[in-house]
This record gives sequence, C-alpha cells and structure tokens, in this order.
Amino acid sequence: MTPTEVDKINAMNDRDIGSSDAPGSRVLLVDDQPIVAEAIRRMLADEADIDFHYCQDPSNAIKMAAEYQPTVILQDMVMPDIDGFVLLRFFHSTPGTRTIPVIVLSTKDDPAVKSEAFELEASDYLVKLPDRVELIARIRAHSRSYMAQKERDEAFKALRVLKKELEQKNAELYRLSSQDGLTGIGNRRRFDEFLESEWRRAIRESSPLSLILIDIDHFKPFNDNYGHQSGDECLQRVAQALARGVRRPSDLVARYGGEEFAVILPNTATEGAQKLAEALRVEVEALAVSHEHSSTADCVTISMGVASTIPLTGMAAPELTKMADQALYRAKEAGRNRFCVWRLEKDAVTAYDKEEERLSRVLADGPASPF
Ligand SMILES: [Mg+2]
Repeated sequence: MTPTEVDKINAMNDRDIGSSDAPGSRVLLVDDQPIVAEAIRRMLADEADIDFHYCQDPSNAIKMAAEYQPTVILQDMVMPDIDGFVLLRFFHSTPGTRTIPVIVLSTKDDPAVKSEAFELEASDYLVKLPDRVELIARIRAHSRSYMAQKERDEAFKALRVLKKELEQKNAELYRLSSQDGLTGIGNRRRFDEFLESEWRRAIRESSPLSLILIDIDHFKPFNDNYGHQSGDECLQRVAQALARGVRRPSDLVARYGGEEFAVILPNTATEGAQKLAEALRVEVEALAVSHEHSSTADCVTISMGVASTIPLTGMAAPELTKMADQALYRAKEAGRNRFCVWRLEKDAVTAYDKEEERLSRVLADGPASPF
C-alpha cells in the first residue's frame, strides 16, 4: 500500500467529528500494516462518536499525536523500524502524549509481553484482530476516563492560577494597607505591628531593641508660610532621606504621625542607634530645604529621641515609645536639630526628682504661715 492509500483511509474518516471541539473519542492507530488499519477503520466506521486516524510510520507517531490529539492510541507492537516497547516509552515520556491511554494491539497472546506492556504504562492490551464490540467498548471507556482526567487537571490548573492571583492581590492589599500614602514608607499601622513583633522577638532572644522618634523642627510655620503642597513635599523629602539613611533591610522607617517619623532597629543597642540618629540628622540637614521661619536653622532640621532596651517579659512595647518620646522632648528643649538618648536618671525619675526638690524647698523655707 502506498502513502496515497493511507491518505485514503484517513480521508474516509474525515467527518465532522474531526474538529477538535467535538465530543467523543478520537482514535489514532499506529500500525505498519494498512490492512490492519482498514479492518479497524471498518469496525469503527458506523460509530458517529468515534473519529479514526491512521499512522503507518511509527517514527511519525509522536508528531501526529501532537497534531491530532487523540483520546486513545491503538498501537501495534511489531513494526519494522521501531520496537513497540520503545514507542510505548516515547509516548509515556513525551509531555503531550504522557497521559493519553494506549491500547496495545498485538499478535502475541503472551502473558510476559502483556505484563511488560503494562509495566510501560500501557492502559490496555488486545490481541489482533479484536472483537468489534469489545474494541469499541474499550475505546469509549478509556476515552471517557482520559477526558475526565483532563478536565480535572485543567480545573486544578485553573484553581492554582486563581490561588496565585489571590495571593498576589492579598500581598498588594497588605502593602497598600501598611504603606503611608504620601511618603511611601510604612504607616502607623505598620509601625505598631512591627514594633509589637520585634518586641516579642527581643524578649524571646534577650536581644536589644532601639527606637528613634523623629520630629521635623518648626513644621507648623513651614506649612503656614509655604503652603500645604510645599509641606507635603517636605514630608516626602524627609521620608526619603530617612529611608536612605537606614540601610539594613531588617530596620523599619515609618511615618508615626503628621510630621513625626519613627525608626525601629531590631538587635541594636544604644551606641548603634545613636550613630544612626546622627547620620539621619546629617542626611536631613544635607537636603538643604530652605526654611526661613525656623528659629533653629535656615533649613529644615529634625529632632530625635533615642531609646534602647533589652525588653523583659511583663514589659509592654509602648513603654519603649514612651521612653523615646521623653528623649525627643528633651532634644527639643535642648535646642532642636539634635538627638537625645533616654536615660533612667534623667527621664523616668524626673517626676520623683521634681517632687523631692519641691519637698526639700518646702522644708528649708518652713511651712507658709497662715497669718
Ligand atoms: Mg506490525
């Protein structure tokens, strides 16, 4: 038989079902003998739901399978150029054909050969020429389970894609909800979350944790004199300068309030935090944002409160914020454009000191006379 005769066999089955979106079974027969192909074609000819395609040359089988996309492959075992077992292996190792069920059509009714074929992932084994009714039943059964499996795979794939999209959207939402809209750095919510989790870690690991609270000096007169748009630009530039100055990815720069910023430094003791505070002060000063209404300098400057501690169980994270806030207050009192470090004797005990001072004065002066 010449290739023209092969074409004829295929042409005779060129029915509407040949279109890829039609339901039903699509059978690809790989067999070197056209006489077998003709016999199979006749067996299937009256079945409207079964489309039949023939491949005489096994070296073309993979390519033809990729084009035709069968739901079942019928495969001969004895062919001139290629061993049937080798072709089975090919089908199974090629991504496009791996899952397509292969029904082996063999002249041998040998249990050892059958066993080896099943080892190589053949789905079924029929001795040539099979009974027509049985062949059709097996083609339909294998085709159905293949289509069902394919649908499940596609549904899972779509689910995985959806899941990934959802994860990306969630990450984006989190980023948006934790970012300050004006300056692009962390917002107050992010600050609170980060401080809380780093506080807990520092307790677990007995490691130091530092916080720098930052306030732009004389920001109100800046806003009042240059306008809100310039005020916003100033906030953006200071935020950028702070973000530039804080180099470790483990540190957090956040907008704490209106013109207040904060830097959280995990695993950092006082010395490290002081060094960074000075670097940030220089960085902001170097912006040289003109500020004619500042009594501190002729450009925008910042004041900072630095607090460091090794937190203990029972202490709460806001205590560190309170400490930094007290130190910030002292930096402003001391003339701004500087940082102050929180110290137990100067800040926490201040109230007691003042009380003691008052009492000693009262005692020295003697009680005020009611007369
Ligand atoms: Mg043969």
